[in-house]
Amino acid sequence: MDMNTDVKYVKGIGSARGELLARVGVRTAGELVRYYPRAYENWQDTYSIADAPMNVNICIKAVVSSVPVGHRTMGGRMMYKTLATDGRDIMSLNFFNNQYVVGQLVEGGEYLFFGKLQPDIYGGCVMFNPRYLRSEPQNGGLHPVYPLTGKLNSKTVANAVGNALASMPELPESLPVYLLGKFRLPGIREALEKIHFPKSEDDVLCARRRLIFEELLTLQTGLLLARSGIKKDTAYAVKTDYTPEFEKQLPFKLTRAQKNAVTECVKDMSCNTPMNRLLQGEVGSGKTAVAAALIYSAVKNGYTAAVMVPTEVLAEQHFKTFKAFFANASIRTELLTGSMKPSEKKAVKERAANGETDLLIGTHAIIQDSVELPRIALTVTDEQHRFGVAQRSALRTKGNNPHTLVMSATPIPRTLAMIIYGDLDISVLDELPAGRIPISTYRVGPDYRARVYEFIRKNARAGRQSYVVCPLVEEGETDRLPAEKIYKTLSETVFPELKVGLLHGKMKPSEKERVMRGFSAGEIQVLVCTVVIEVGIDVPNATVMLIENAECFGLSQLHQLRGRIGRGKEKSYCILMSDIQTDNANGRFDVMCSTSDGFKIADEDLRMRGPGDFFGSRQHGLPELRLADLTGDSRILYAAREEAKLILENDANLISEENAGLRASVSKLFESFDN
Ligand code: ADP
Ligand code: MG
Repeated sequence: MDMNTDVKYVKGIGSARGELLARVGVRTAGELVRYYPRAYENWQDTYSIADAPMNVNICIKAVVSSVPVGHRTMGGRMMYKTLATDGRDIMSLNFFNNQYVVGQLVEGGEYLFFGKLQPDIYGGCVMFNPRYLRSEPQNGGLHPVYPLTGKLNSKTVANAVGNALASMPELPESLPVYLLGKFRLPGIREALEKIHFPKSEDDVLCARRRLIFEELLTLQTGLLLARSGIKKDTAYAVKTDYTPEFEKQLPFKLTRAQKNAVTECVKDMSCNTPMNRLLQGEVGSGKTAVAAALIYSAVKNGYTAAVMVPTEVLAEQHFKTFKAFFANASIRTELLTGSMKPSEKKAVKERAANGETDLLIGTHAIIQDSVELPRIALTVTDEQHRFGVAQRSALRTKGNNPHTLVMSATPIPRTLAMIIYGDLDISVLDELPAGRIPISTYRVGPDYRARVYEFIRKNARAGRQSYVVCPLVEEGETDRLPAEKIYKTLSETVFPELKVGLLHGKMKPSEKERVMRGFSAGEIQVLVCTVVIEVGIDVPNATVMLIENAECFGLSQLHQLRGRIGRGKEKSYCILMSDIQTDNANGRFDVMCSTSDGFKIADEDLRMRGPGDFFGSRQHGLPELRLADLTGDSRILYAAREEAKLILENDANLISEENAGLRASVSKLFESFDN
């Protein structure tokens, strides 16, 4: 048996369990031994009945007084009851619907009982449905608990892991061996044995340290590999700063934060080393104007630039915004998106290749194969977190190592951003343009619907616009109101006198464009839409946002959505409509209603969802990590980052024998990702 053997051949698994495991991503023996416990049950520190804390999972060693006897409860269930003693006190043991205890618990036998001790209504104390094992040395210890779904239990998995480890005498070491010595880390076998079958808390810590280091080293190496090649010199140093000239053409003054960011970038771009910078800024902080300033200087120095965004709607919007910024400058700006007519695309590409285009804006379609933009000195990637690593580096390798600016509205701490985005320098827009009025946010239930509609109507009468945001509907879901249905109700019944528009991702780009244009121009008063508006759209006259089924959205997503309003001179209102009362949903609504600070919201989001989810590929274009917590394990993270750099300095393509294991884990970590 080796790491690639199908998991169903592991002793104790078989086809049926193999399929259950496949559902949690465990298909091979190698994946099984890397399927780490999510927690441990402590069966080794046993309590006496008198000392045991109540209502938490603990282990008590006790002798059973008699074979359990079954009674039918008033609810019709069978309950099997017996007593057990630790030699001093007695506790009741109650098992519901489990006739097996009758054959398993013998009179006078000593067992370990694991469960929650509770005060008994008849006095004394009781454990309901405890798990139990004969009291024998091998049954103590820390029992692994696996992140399972469905019918598999942790014990089955633990046994199978043990069998798999035993039948693989040669486990491939994934870390370069000198690193084990350098950081005093256990080898792979020891680490796996300790993570699955620890004898003590120390074993767990020791194993985790190694496995987390390995995971982070793999991540860092993968990220650095993805962007290798960017260190080369650029041919296009942007020598003259045209920002003052650009500023004169703007309808507003740049904020201090915008000015600083522009200065930092311009300085970077004046060098022969390509700029590689992340511009972080709250929604509405004015990142686009910063990008425009840089593009302006690049073009005035005789170069070209490209802007890449994740959605067509945003590409189209940016196209308009940049054209407006450059209305008085002769900057030839073109739009290129995947869904344009082939003949149009061809024409745009030809003009670009012929040097007739100064600025090309588009979806990532522009990075695919055929586009050539001579003298490209700057690429700007907006809404950074939407892109995978491969897409980012593909754009970067276009042309002659252009300067790159990536922009993101996802607030993450600077140190983390550094790691997530690798070698990026960072500028932060920590101030909103002056004169913004804070948005008021309310959470309401469906009984408020009529009043909310009335509010939207009043808003329209006052000449302002509203968004009605609906969740995406997945197939088979019926209880959420899909955008189309809401659109129909609103346009026909609720607001017959208003112009209502509909915008969702499945519409033809030309239609989307028409609707967006209508909304931007103020012709559409109420825009029913899905999260397509989450990124980048800018209509300052829109002052009300009603979010339907708000419980369907994550905290960061709600915040991003809300960022679409509150952009003008009028006060804006965000209404979260939901009839769901779970703690989790309510928690998100409370945060939304109490703050508009993106960093605070990101922290809360991180806290509520856990780092695995927050930093999952959905959010940041990173592969999912199993053990490492990018916020908590920062020391290991820094060490891993340094080592990854050293490794690649000596072996840029990971071809040496020593790095074979690491190379394998890098491709594994990034395999299901980025395509
Ligand atoms: P984001 O950072 O979310 O991409 P935008 O670039 O879309 O934000 O800017 C939000 C709005 O603020 C736009 O309408 C933009 O024209 C406006 N804006 C940007 N900078 C300033 C400024 N310095 N003063 C006033 N308004 C500004
Ligand atoms: Mg933006």
